[in-house]
Formats: sequence, structure tokens, C-alpha cells
Amino acid sequence: MTKFGSPQSMTEYDGRFVPVIYAEEQPFWKAAREHRLVLQSCDRCHRAWYPIGPNCPRCLSTDFTWQELRGTGKVSSFVVFHKPWADWLRDRVPYVVAQVELDEGPRLTANLPGVAIEDVRIGMPVSVVFEDVSPEISLPQFTVPE
Ligand SMILES: [Zn+2]
Repeated sequence: MTKFGSPQSMTEYDGRFVPVIYAEEQPFWKAAREHRLVLQSCDRCHRAWYPIGPNCPRCLSTDFTWQELRGTGKVSSFVVFHKPWADWLRDRVPYVVAQVELDEGPRLTANLPGVAIEDVRIGMPVSVVFEDVSPEISLPQFTVPE
């Protein structure tokens, strides 16, 4: 089963594109459903990694443990989308897609709910929140900590 590529790698739920959950990603999505952020952490070099995969991108070890992360980090990059690429987005533009570098190192791509576009800055501290989008999927998103 290939993980990347065709538009068929996404499904729609209420008109919103949501991730397809692959077997190796089950612990990540199960934890997200419980509003916990977990990633694979290497048993040899003790670093967390993302995207989810069979071995550590740093030392290539295949031994890992699912580790709960703090859920804090900073915006390392972002873009503002002005065009609604799907009907679900028609009344939601413009919106931000950010890359967040977690304190533990891995970078996740997410939206920044509750953050005004004009307030988004590279390096701004953010913390994870979970958006329940379907019975199976809660998306890790990021917002400014209170
Ligand atoms: Zn490693």
C-alpha cells in the first residue's frame, strides 16, 4: 500500500477532505482522538520523528516507542490560502496553513484556529488543540497558548 500520491489517498466527510488512516498510523490517530499528541520516538537515539514511518530518519533504527509529546512548539513557516480549493472551504478563506516545529523537533502541518491571520509570525509560540472533524478523526491544530 502506497502512502503518497493520488487524490484517492483522501476521503471526504461532510465535504471536508480528511486524512486516510493507514495501519502504521493507528496509534497517532487513536491518541489524537483522545486529544493527546504522540509520535514515534527512536529507542536508540531517543528522538521523535515525523512523518510516521518504519524507521528513524536519523539513525535508521526500526525500534521505536510511541511517545506523548508536550504539544508545544513554534511556527516555522506558514502560507495564507485565499482560493477555496474545495466547496467546504468556500466560506472559510482566507486561512492559514502553518508548519509548526515541535519542541521535540518534528514539524507538523496544521491550521491555527483562533489566531488572526495578521497576527501570525514566524517563531511565535503555539500549542496543540484538537479539532474533532469526524467520529474517527481529530486533527491536531495549533493556537496561541493562553
Ligand atoms: Zn534514531
